[in-house]
Amino acid sequence: MNAIPSLENLWKRKILVYPRCISCGKGPESTSHSLFGCRTAKKVWSESFFSSSLAKVSLFPVLDVLTSLAGHLFLDDLGEVCMIAWAIWENRNVLLNGGKMRALESVATRALDFLSEFRLSKIACGSPPSSMAARTPSDWIAPPLGALQLNTDFVTHKPSRSIGIGLAIRDNRGKVLACPGQLPAWGLFSGD
Ligand SMILES: [Zn+2]
Repeated sequence: MNAIPSLENLWKRKILVYPRCISCGKGPESTSHSLFGCRTAKKVWSESFFSSSLAKVSLFPVLDVLTSLAGHLFLDDLGEVCMIAWAIWENRNVLLNGGKMRALESVATRALDFLSEFRLSKIACGSPPSSMAARTPSDWIAPPLGALQLNTDFVTHKPSRSIGIGLAIRDNRGKVLACPGQLPAWGLFSGD
């Protein structure tokens, strides 16, 4: 985390006189402060499903925060945390470069929209879904020669209470022959 150009890291390299956070006016702006501890970051997290998980650890170093979350979140949820953290950092950079920050209420939703789009595009492009990629190759059972296999996966988008369904038809060598594309659906869904 020392590689991230937070103001505190720049201060440690004697590039800045004092690493005062540009978002809240307090300091120092460590990486952890900018992503989790700053009031602007907390506002973004408050719009997500991870607010309570972060409440007790937001002042910890970033790696400790992620380690704590990894202890009780699913892998997909951790991906959402990282994506929202990226969006907070990107919004902070907009302000640092003289721009106007996006409304804090929209940052988490925008980040999760990007993530949903990415996950669905992976399916549409023929990449194995993350749940399949985590398996060993021997887990995948090819269909018989001349037969086709329908692979499916879905992603959830909690803010809009919707899911996206991806489909891919593969031959016995695993080659993708057809992808119907993204199939959004709305309703009451559970991730279980
Ligand atoms: Zn701050």
